[in-house]
Parts: sequence; structure tokens; C-alpha cells
Amino acid sequence: MATKTDKLRAVRDDVWNLTQSPLYSYRTKTHYYPVLGEGDHDATIMFIGEAPGENEAKTGRPFCGAAGRVLTELLASIGMKREDVYISNIVKDRPPGNRDPFPDEIALYAPFLDRQIDIIQPKVLVTLGRFSMNYMLEKYDLPQKGMPISTLHGQLLDLSLSYGTIKFLPLYHPAVALYNASSKKTLLHDVALLPSLG
Ligand code: URA
Repeated sequence: MATKTDKLRAVRDDVWNLTQSPLYSYRTKTHYYPVLGEGDHDATIMFIGEAPGENEAKTGRPFCGAAGRVLTELLASIGMKREDVYISNIVKDRPPGNRDPFPDEIALYAPFLDRQIDIIQPKVLVTLGRFSMNYMLEKYDLPQKGMPISTLHGQLLDLSLSYGTIKFLPLYHPAVALYNASSKKTLLHDVALLPSLG
């Protein structure tokens, strides 16, 4: 029987071969890597960011630059390490110049995220930033759909998935903490909800 690792490798291979992506030729031209995710395949908590930045695309690892250092700090504030959770993104290839991902890019890559969630089966999904938050709100047709992240961050929602009902916690993207000290306080406050859920 295929293990979780086998199944995650199959997702990785499919993304590697996603020649129809508008980001595929940029990836190959720049010798970038797609960024699938990393962490515990049995994690209770899964974090979902937006898209790889330059550091991530050069290494193939999620959140390994400045925003990643904030994420590591947030985890440390609740006594957790990166290896204790699973960290992924909604878009798996770097958009040029760190621009926001386009809706058609999100639509193309999201099924790979859905597969990762189905394989890992976390009990808590934490979205980082508005793109992954909006994807979840829309896909699961939650009543909070369309509400801004300034309202929804730190609110615990329920998400009914194929394997059961889990918690969904939208957070601001950790990159906001790089420019704004009060956003960092908000992130630290919101992330403190997690230990009671795992
Ligand atoms: N920002 C993201 O959303 N994801 C990463 O992997 C890095 C930065």
C-alpha cells in the first residue's frame, strides 16, 4: 500500500511536470525549483502560505527567507519547531518579481494543495495571508467568504473535509511582521490559540 510519503512524492512529481503552468517556463529558465512543502507527514497542524519567494524557489524549501524566520519565531513562541508541523503554499512555483499570484495560477495549483491536505489529514489548518484564506473560504463556501483578513485573522472556524471536521485558523502573512511591529504582536497573539487545539 502506498505510504503518505509515496503519495506526497506523487504530488511532487505531478507539480514538477506541470508544463501547462504559466510559471513553468519561468521556473525552468531560472533553474528554480517548485516548492511543495516540508515537515511532519503526520502533523496535526498544517500551515499554508501564498507562493515561494526567491529564496524558496532557489532551494525548493518553503518559508526559508525573512518571512520564514518570522514563522519559525511564531512557532517557537508556542514551544513548537518547524519539524513538528507541515508547511506548504497554495501556489507551488515562484511568480516573477514576487508579484501576487493570479487567480488562474491559484486555480491551477490549488488541487495539489487539496491532495496534500487529504494525505496529511491535519486537525488544524492555518492559512498565512489572504490568498490561502480566501481559497479555503470559497472552496468550502463558508459564511465568512468575502470578509477581509483584518476581520477574520485569529478567528477559529470549522472546516468540513472528506476525513472529518477540522479547525481552520486564518492568520496574517508573517511577512507583514517585517514592516509592522503591531502586526507581529497580532500574529503572536493569534498563534497562541494553537496549543489548545492540537
Ligand atoms: N511567502 C510565502 O507565502 N511562502 C513562502 O514559502 C515564502 C514566503
